[in-house]
Amino acid sequence: MTKKLKTATLCVQGGYKPKNGEPIEVPIIQSTTFKYDNSEEMAMLFDLKKEGYFYSRLQNPTNDAVAEKIAQLEGGVGAVLTSSGQAANFYAVFNICEAGDHIVASNEIYGGTYNLFGVTLKKLGIECTFVSPEASDEEIQAAFRPNTKALFGETISNPGCQILDIERFAQIAHRNHVPLIVDNTFATPINCRPFEWGADIVTHSTTKYMDGTASQVGGVIVDSGNFDWMEHAEKFPGLCTPDESYHGIIYAKQFGKMGYITKIISQLMRDLGSIPAPMNSFILNLGLQSLHLRMAQHCKNAQEVAEFLEKNEKVAWIRYAGLADDPNHAKAEKYLPNGTCGVMAFGLKGNRDTAIRFMDSLNMINIVTHVADARTCVLHPASHTHRQLTDEQLREAGIAPDLIRLSVGIEDVDDILDDIKQALAKI
Ligand SMILES: *Cc1c(COP(=O)(O)O)cnc(C)c1O
Repeated sequence: MTKKLKTATLCVQGGYKPKNGEPIEVPIIQSTTFKYDNSEEMAMLFDLKKEGYFYSRLQNPTNDAVAEKIAQLEGGVGAVLTSSGQAANFYAVFNICEAGDHIVASNEIYGGTYNLFGVTLKKLGIECTFVSPEASDEEIQAAFRPNTKALFGETISNPGCQILDIERFAQIAHRNHVPLIVDNTFATPINCRPFEWGADIVTHSTTKYMDGTASQVGGVIVDSGNFDWMEHAEKFPGLCTPDESYHGIIYAKQFGKMGYITKIISQLMRDLGSIPAPMNSFILNLGLQSLHLRMAQHCKNAQEVAEFLEKNEKVAWIRYAGLADDPNHAKAEKYLPNGTCGVMAFGLKGNRDTAIRFMDSLNMINIVTHVADARTCVLHPASHTHRQLTDEQLREAGIAPDLIRLSVGIEDVDDILDDIKQALAKI
């Protein structure tokens, strides 16, 4: 048996093992297609009877090496990279849902996912009921229907910084014979591995901490291999009955624990695309090599900044689970004992304009849509990312109109604090 490597080692060396004389860094195989000596060999690949590369929309060696590293980091059986976090969450759900189906999702989630589930999936005939992650078991249970196929939440919600009670959500999902899908973007597998708490599928926007350099947009879906699709075959016909578009393959039967990921690759990627460019996966992998170091520094800096803001008289409220009196602190200690992440949410005393004046007064800290990056950055969701939501939708999504999302980077914390202090002095 090979020794199970620790997380930091997997960040640096996971997923790719060069053989004698091969490059030490994951090679960028920027090729659409792969050549074979005879047509029979190619035919076997198309029948999924043999493993091998033939077209990069389905699989590519660079993408696969990086997906394998993330699967190892999360403790899953397999993973597939997507061209964005949006594509990852879409495929994670669409792989087990079709028109006429329904999902239940936490309402404290990224605005893009909220739209995807509430508006776009509806156009495809898939309905979503949103529940508060703080709702009682009974209230969440009441959202389930006979046609419900998944429960969804974010480990640390963007932008509200709410922490998901993963174990409780997993129990509710499993009682209803459906998988729990967890978007683990903000926590990263360095600070939380949702599979250890019963989650079945994990997704990420790799655009954020995993990359850390703001250089590529990407996503990933990881399967724990723990959900027994065949045991609930009547609920998941896409995995448990023959796929007429692929020689009548039954994914969950033929590929066992890899059935879910194999279906995404051979059916959804074939029909819908959304693979990352190998170059982007290479860039993502450069980021992953320092993820463990960066996350520790993000948490250390953010803790100092949160403690400063909490004590400042101009700050009306703050949400950062690392603070001892944060309503999420107990959950953070359970699920994220090494720290949560660099992102916090706070409001300033005053009105909406106060938030804007504060942000416009910042010098080193950047106003960007991006979050969870090496650079400290700031955003006002009500006037930026969530401007398409009505005030009521904003409240439903757990976003106060005065909420400022601060994503603390890995610069020297003294410089971050100085910039915040001088901007606060101007309001
Ligand atoms: C950014 C984000 C997404 C969407 O990812 P993209 O890579 O921007 O498509 C999904 N979930 C969370 C938690 C995010 O922060």
